[in-house]
Amino acid sequence: MVFRSLADGIGPAVVDHPFRRRMPLRTVPVAELSRQIYIRERDHSYRDARMYQTGHYGVALLAYAPLGAVVALAGSPGGAIVGGLVCVGLSTLPDFDHRLPMVEHRGPTHTVAFALLVGAALAAAAAILVESPSPLIDVGFVAFSFVVGVVSIGSHLLADALTPMGVRPFWPVSDRHYSLGVTHAGNPVANYALFGVGVGMAVLVATVITIVG
Ligand SMILES: [Zn+2]
Repeated sequence: MVFRSLADGIGPAVVDHPFRRRMPLRTVPVAELSRQIYIRERDHSYRDARMYQTGHYGVALLAYAPLGAVVALAGSPGGAIVGGLVCVGLSTLPDFDHRLPMVEHRGPTHTVAFALLVGAALAAAAAILVESPSPLIDVGFVAFSFVVGVVSIGSHLLADALTPMGVRPFWPVSDRHYSLGVTHAGNPVANYALFGVGVGMAVLVATVITIVG
């Protein structure tokens, strides 16, 4: 019976069917039981390795708020809003590694190198798309786009570093692992709390800028 209560929810450990009442109870070997528990734990930790989008959006908003404030105060509130949307929109990009075969989760897409690559791609897109009468404004847009990309992916790394699984941001230069172990990635309270704090910060910054401006 101990086996049965242990195995509840992971498959029948003890076959206790009416037609088999007269037969001796068949127990699952302990090795099989521990294998099932291992699979369950492993699958749980796999799910747990991926933070909710809400958590990443919240941290992206928090990380972007100072940059957005500077851009808005410098006279481009529209640019600040677009930059914020791009920053939040790209903040879950690293987790596309779940869909890529042969790519380790929290591997190459969870590094500073990937953040710089995304920044460079955004800067290149801005260089092609933005055309202003002043070369200085052009350079400003390209630089701003680069920083938005780096902040967006960087915020993802920060959020993942809160979890026990952590990140290895300096791969391939260094394999050092960073984890603050504050919360599990799949913790809904932590995810919605981060989202709430991020939205709160964005609203606060927008209000202050509206009053100051
Ligand atoms: Zn991630």
